[in-house]
Amino acid sequence: MQPSAFHKLLLLLPLAYQHTSNDHKEESHWNYETNGQNWGGVCSAGERQSPISLNVQKSLIVPLPRIVFGNYDVKLRGPITLLNNGHTAHVEIPETANGNRPFITGGLLKGRYVAEAFHFHWGSPSSRGSEHSINQQRFDVEMHIVHRNAKYKDIDEAKNKKDGIAVIGVMLKIVKNPNRIFPGLSKVMGALPRVTKYKAKTTIPGGLSLGQMLGNLNPRDFFTYRGSLTTPLCEQAVTWTVFSQVLPVPYSSVSKFWKLRDSEGHRLINNFRDIQPRNGRPVFYRVGKDLSGAYLGK
Ligand SMILES: [Zn+2]
Repeated sequence: MQPSAFHKLLLLLPLAYQHTSNDHKEESHWNYETNGQNWGGVCSAGERQSPISLNVQKSLIVPLPRIVFGNYDVKLRGPITLLNNGHTAHVEIPETANGNRPFITGGLLKGRYVAEAFHFHWGSPSSRGSEHSINQQRFDVEMHIVHRNAKYKDIDEAKNKKDGIAVIGVMLKIVKNPNRIFPGLSKVMGALPRVTKYKAKTTIPGGLSLGQMLGNLNPRDFFTYRGSLTTPLCEQAVTWTVFSQVLPVPYSSVSKFWKLRDSEGHRLINNFRDIQPRNGRPVFYRVGKDLSGAYLGK
């Protein structure tokens, strides 16, 4: 039964008094000490939680449309702000210089999903920090670009809808001498030393398009499934698209994540949630390569 509006109001009142700032309740009072095992009180329980283990062998190989990136190649309107929110390094995505919003469609998605923000999950000098695993392997960093279904007015409304949110996941891996440096990623990671403290903010210098965050990623090869946000309240609103190509990044960039601090001044490391049960959910895999490993130019 739906609680009446009046009962909802009564439930919300104590929260309103506790949080005089405009903090969302999910932004407080949780941490990564047990990688999510103690989130029982703040996380919605359910059968479609994320992250999960992704395996080509256990996936349904289907001819899905490729992911289409709209306005990803257009420069974003500045200033672009990087924030240490105590849980991650977070960037709200502004509109593009010509007043549009970057968006994605394709894959399992119906309609357009507007880019809202991106952030990262990382490990420590002795552990890897990706949330999803691919063929039993975890990676040093996982970047998430969060999109909201254009038919909902904002991210808070979208979080409560089954088709509300689309997140793309991109794996980053430390490589000794990467033969390519991706300008977007290196600009953002280069700004990390200015946000080591909780709530510290800095501006990303120079122009940035969202596409620059993806380097030379092959958008045709990915896993996709229905799951949840990986931070409280873990709403089951997310269509995940996790690309199988891993982007190489230098150690000196990744090590900057490990210097961030959380709201209590502790090192903000290992900010990933543990793998969740798949519970029989279908995971789809779109093959973007032919057997020789060359990309199909479709
Ligand atoms: Zn995330």
